[in-house]
Amino acid sequence: METGGNSLPSGPDGVKRKVNYFYDPEVGNYYYGQGHPMKPHRIRMTHALLAHYGLLQHMQVLKPFPARDRDLCRFHADDYVTFLRSITPETQQDQLRQLKRFNVGEDCPVFDGLYNFCQTYAGGSVGGAVKLNHGLCDIAINWAGGLHHAKKCEASGFCYVNDIVLAILELLKQHERVLYVDIDIHHGDGVEEAFYTTDRVMTVSFHKFGDYFPGTGDIRDIGHGKGKYYSLNVPLDDGIDDESYQSLFKPIMEKVMEVFRPGAVVLQCGADSLSGDRLGCFNLSIKGHAECVRYMRSFNVPLLLLGGGGYTIRNVARCWCYETGVALGVEVDDKMPQHEYYEYFGPDYTLHVAPSNMENKNSRPLLDDIRAKLLDYLSKLQHAPSIQFQERPPDTELPEANEDEDDANERWDDHDSDMEVEERKPMLSNLQNPRVKREIVEPELKEEDQSAIAENTLGIDTASDDIFCAKASAEMGSMSIEEPVNVKVEPENLNKSSDPPGQVAYPKI
Ligand SMILES: [Zn+2]
Repeated sequence: METGGNSLPSGPDGVKRKVNYFYDPEVGNYYYGQGHPMKPHRIRMTHALLAHYGLLQHMQVLKPFPARDRDLCRFHADDYVTFLRSITPETQQDQLRQLKRFNVGEDCPVFDGLYNFCQTYAGGSVGGAVKLNHGLCDIAINWAGGLHHAKKCEASGFCYVNDIVLAILELLKQHERVLYVDIDIHHGDGVEEAFYTTDRVMTVSFHKFGDYFPGTGDIRDIGHGKGKYYSLNVPLDDGIDDESYQSLFKPIMEKVMEVFRPGAVVLQCGADSLSGDRLGCFNLSIKGHAECVRYMRSFNVPLLLLGGGGYTIRNVARCWCYETGVALGVEVDDKMPQHEYYEYFGPDYTLHVAPSNMENKNSRPLLDDIRAKLLDYLSKLQHAPSIQFQERPPDTELPEANEDEDDANERWDDHDSDMEVEERKPMLSNLQNPRVKREIVEPELKEEDQSAIAENTLGIDTASDDIFCAKASAEMGSMSIEEPVNVKVEPENLNKSSDPPGQVAYPKI
């Protein structure tokens, strides 16, 4: 079978996609602290490349609506969200017990504007899901999102709130089944855990496994209860190259698309799986990484593209710029245009960088074995009764139709379009000073209006509530049959070799 694997009537890339791109000009100003490898500045660098390559004019550029407490609480515990909202660098010394309880302080430090940062990146992902749900775009992009390690009541691996889980919950309002694919070098543990016992969300994570953060993601972890076979893990070893990676990615994803038939796909594009990443140990080129985007795009299913890890920030910006081009169906020049961060990209000033000559520890027999195991898992789904893929939750489990919902969503959409960046105008003044906020037309809604929109748009009860019954019971300590069975593994492995001397060695993310 050919592995072009697309379902487009007019060929793999015969149709232009309408792309919505979420970006907040403030996001690059958040700072985790000296020596910390997570640098939100990379999002601003990506944006600058998009602007100077002329890609912004091909898509709708939107400033995300900040997620509100109640939006975050659709997944996260109230007391955790309250804590994130209230903690500051100045007050954290008085909150040591809380810091420990919520795993905030070291890898996930308290920094100025932390809660606003969370609101911003989560708002972009949920906003993208809303746009997709309404058919207002084919692909939504939020490079500030993709923070896949955050848990219901705990920060983890540089992640505080799990924007991916929130976006999937939003997509589940409209779609019976949602597929999550994760190509970050780290296991997508937070998302897997959230949906471990449901068959409405399939999670597929490709990651380094073995003495590596977060320690989960064994090939034998496949979901539980109704979710059995709906969590898939592809464990990989150091030095994997483009060809080896695609020899798994394409056949596995082709089969996933065939048997799961998702209504929407969320692709976490963590760039720490690229060659030369500060914390990573894979050997993917940007084109190899982007091939995953190209392939998932080819199915012509509503697609949410998110960021994630990525710690050699010049390569992160290169990668996400190129992948934005892939989303748009535009092939961008290798020669980089002059822009305010040009000096980061010397000496070649090209978009693409050659992978290294590091050893690929993933032998062919090992890869064949992994692929065979995963295709075997998927064959169990293929032979499942077709009703498994047809059924809808009984009406009694569905919320009452909320007449305000459509209005609210329309208002949300209006609200977004009020904030459209006027991307066709020359943006030089803004680009020379990325902190200039006039790039975005500020919303004019009053506080109470915003509150109503957020509540009505994001707080609507959904048919997905059943998903959390199992999780809630698990977190109360009861061992229900549907309980997630993940074992929490403390992050102990250090990737010291990739950290400059004298800096903190971060094991993560
Ligand atoms: Zn990562």
